[in-house]
Amino acid sequence: MFTPFINNNLSFIKDYFSLLLDNKEKNFPQSIILYGEDTFAQYMLALNLAKILNCLDNRSMSCNCLNCNWIKENSHPAVITVSKLDFKPDDDSSKTVISVKQTQEIKNQLSTTSEYHRVFILCDAEIKTPNETEKEQINKFKKNNFSLPYEDNESSQYWIPKGITRKIFQEESANSMLKCIEEPPPRTTFIFLTKDKSDLIETIISRSQSFYVPSKHVENNDVEIIAKELKYYPEIDRLEINNITNNLLTNAEMLNITPEELIIKFQQFIKNTALANANTPTNVAKMIDDIKILNETQSQLRSYIKPELALENAIYKIYKNWEN
Ligand SMILES: [Zn+2]
Repeated sequence: MFTPFINNNLSFIKDYFSLLLDNKEKNFPQSIILYGEDTFAQYMLALNLAKILNCLDNRSMSCNCLNCNWIKENSHPAVITVSKLDFKPDDDSSKTVISVKQTQEIKNQLSTTSEYHRVFILCDAEIKTPNETEKEQINKFKKNNFSLPYEDNESSQYWIPKGITRKIFQEESANSMLKCIEEPPPRTTFIFLTKDKSDLIETIISRSQSFYVPSKHVENNDVEIIAKELKYYPEIDRLEINNITNNLLTNAEMLNITPEELIIKFQQFIKNTALANANTPTNVAKMIDDIKILNETQSQLRSYIKPELALENAIYKIYKNWEN
């Protein structure tokens, strides 16, 4: 069902959506927020979901049904990228925002019936000469058989997806869409691509399911070092937080694992636990919060906060997240 890149790098998300798609496609979320550093991966995932939801045949990556082919070419009439550059009505001259005219156009489309599962992907975008990292991402994206909304090989200008921000998707536009996000016609999904959930207004977040899309692939998935100390996760004994922190860091040092790698393993451990809890969405949502807490820990480590302090603080926040 999913591209090789998603199979290999986003296994937690892939498994979660596979469960949704296999069991209750009718209840597929009407609004999804994908957040994290890798907007290319988010865009690929959004298109991949749209492809599965619209496939007329066996949902395989190699399927060549009409819908799959359109989505691979990025030309499907009901799988629409909305950004400050894309999906502009003729009379809309705005260039820096997703305008109210655009959201009105979305509403117009939704007022007609459709034979497709409609997917609106909302993000920021830029057309530019890609830098080295972006070049790599474009190659990866195309190797996985998807196309960008705009590519010009000759002039080397490419459409690059960026996370949506409040500056791009201002309150007036966002608010004008709330009702159709909350009660869209059947078989409609909005997907927001962001770096961080806080880039969207609260009223959208509360109407959406949020998923963290990890940007780093952990080669070694051995999370034993974490499991040993957090046997009863999500239950954590408050009085043990200091001990757990010290044990984790000491054991990591002995095994030549850096604090940064330790945090990645911690996140992997939570993902594994979440996967085992996939039928309890409230727990999964809290575990995703825990993963996000550890993202903050990573950035604290990058700004030279002491590992003891950063990790202890994270475990305390996780403990608080599950209190009650
Ligand atoms: Zn197909």
